[in-house]
Amino acid sequence: MVQKNLIDGEWIAGSEAFRNINPSDTNDVVGEYARASAEDARAAIAAAKAAFPAWSRSGILERHAILRKTADEILARKDELGKLLSREEGKTLAEGIGETVRAGQIFDFFAGECLRLAGEVLPSARPNIGVEITREPIGVVGIITPWNFPIAIPAWKIAPALCYGNTVVFKPAELVPGSSWAIVDILHRAGLPKGVLNLVMGKGSVVGQAMLDSPDIHAITFTGSTGTGKRVALASVEHNRKYQLEMGGKNPFVVLDDADLAVAVEAAVNSAFFSTGQRCTASSRLIVTEGIHDRFVAAMGERMKGLVIDDALKAGTQIGPVVDESQLNQDTDYIAIGRQEGAKLAFGGELLKRDTPGFYLQPALFTEATNAMRISREEIFGPVASVIRVKDYDEALIVANDTPFGLSSGIATTSLKHATHFKRNADAGMVMVNLPTAGVDFHVPFGGRKGSSHGSREQGRYAAEFYTTVKTAYTLA
Ligand code: ADP
Repeated sequence: MVQKNLIDGEWIAGSEAFRNINPSDTNDVVGEYARASAEDARAAIAAAKAAFPAWSRSGILERHAILRKTADEILARKDELGKLLSREEGKTLAEGIGETVRAGQIFDFFAGECLRLAGEVLPSARPNIGVEITREPIGVVGIITPWNFPIAIPAWKIAPALCYGNTVVFKPAELVPGSSWAIVDILHRAGLPKGVLNLVMGKGSVVGQAMLDSPDIHAITFTGSTGTGKRVALASVEHNRKYQLEMGGKNPFVVLDDADLAVAVEAAVNSAFFSTGQRCTASSRLIVTEGIHDRFVAAMGERMKGLVIDDALKAGTQIGPVVDESQLNQDTDYIAIGRQEGAKLAFGGELLKRDTPGFYLQPALFTEATNAMRISREEIFGPVASVIRVKDYDEALIVANDTPFGLSSGIATTSLKHATHFKRNADAGMVMVNLPTAGVDFHVPFGGRKGSSHGSREQGRYAAEFYTTVKTAYTLA
């Protein structure tokens, strides 16, 4: 059965369909999904525009109930939805279920936020005048998401968009339509009025582009590559619309001489290789001071030998496959580039054979890398990390910040002085002390600086900055 697009409250088949393939076993077709056309995208935008006046004035209890019901169903079905996610994306079942729970928590959080909408009442600078500051929805929000978090990223964009009274046109990544289809189905059945949430699965160059070109989309929230992010920005400036971008990372993880070695290795392995390194918060630059360097590299090698890389759904798998062939080629190309640049491939980097045909890659660790090499400057988005040796903390901080990106930054140290200094001086939106660079909470701001992000933060109460616009009203008493 082909899973359809949702346009104006109707499930629409369209003329084409595409297959969702399991990267752990390319013989396994997860499902077939209708491919939306540019025409479908325009119909979805028109439906969202028509639905906006009523939804923007809907009661907070109605919105609360729909988001709450959605959270409950996602959490009740976490094992099934988590399995679907792991099957289509290739992260392990534990990671798939964990991400699904997080999506449920996000809907739960924003269900609560519907009941906490508030403004401010202030005295005017002039006598006998009152001032009210309120938040209003923006209008039609376009949501464009990547493949690496198939349920959490759609959740953290759709939930606040609806909570604050916007209507939505949602385009998920073509590689992973299953999880997106499932949450749209849940929201639809939870009672959303027609046209409030529209799903258009399909190609970025067609469906996504039709969204960028529409004057009727008032805001776009995008997570994906730097190149596409730039297109979103340019089109948004053209249409004078609000936009928010979450793009790449080249996140540093600093290990100081005084670090607890076991803590440092666990955090580094998690940061660099878990979720197959396919997280924008993954660390691919391990910046290590001289005194601990050799012990750290040896311990990393030992730890990496024990990693179980296999089918994402198999019990005991710690690292699943790469998401598809083109991403695998990108990873192996960068491994070749690293060698040509003179870094030493200390461990891994081999293609692996498993029981089923899939995109299996042994995590790779380079040593003797410099921060000037391409493998240290460009986002690889796979299980490939480099160790960069530095003299001391001061040099480590300079190297950590010397990157075009600024999403997440980590440090392993037992020194309060260095931890405190690093928190203040890391040029990143998120800082982790003795923790992996990836792995964030659902109720606090997420986002970065420099080439990683543009616009206000996602998640938690800070999401209101993007999904609402502020009105200041003056009244003569
Ligand atoms: P990734 O490398 O993560 O696939 P992309 O930026 O290519 O990064 O994809 C992120 C999202 O952007 C996907 O949903 C993709 O379909 C969409 N996309 C790609 N090209 C365009 C475009 N020209 N206009 C709008 N969206 C696009």
